[in-house]
Amino acid sequence: MKTKGHPKWYPEAKVSCACGATFTTGSTSPTIAVEVCSNCHPLWTGQQKFLDTAGRVEKFNQRVAMADQKKAAAAARTAKKQADQAEAAPASL
Ligand SMILES: [Zn+2]
Repeated sequence: MKTKGHPKWYPEAKVSCACGATFTTGSTSPTIAVEVCSNCHPLWTGQQKFLDTAGRVEKFNQRVAMADQKKAAAAARTAKKQADQAEAAPASL
């Protein structure tokens, strides 16, 4: 094994999560800061949680609401058009 070229190994590297949980692992860096861990990840907790700092979820929900409004308006236009056509058509030939 080469003596140089290998990074320093920290067998007791401290991992700290944004949720407050800490545990140790082996790593080449002495401390690791993470945003999600197995204590707080939705896969293991079963609870929905958003790590949303830029308001992306909010923007998406706004777009969904706008799309629903447009769909409703288009459906109303189509219904009105069909009603007008039915009214304009002769009763019998
Ligand atoms: Zn966590």
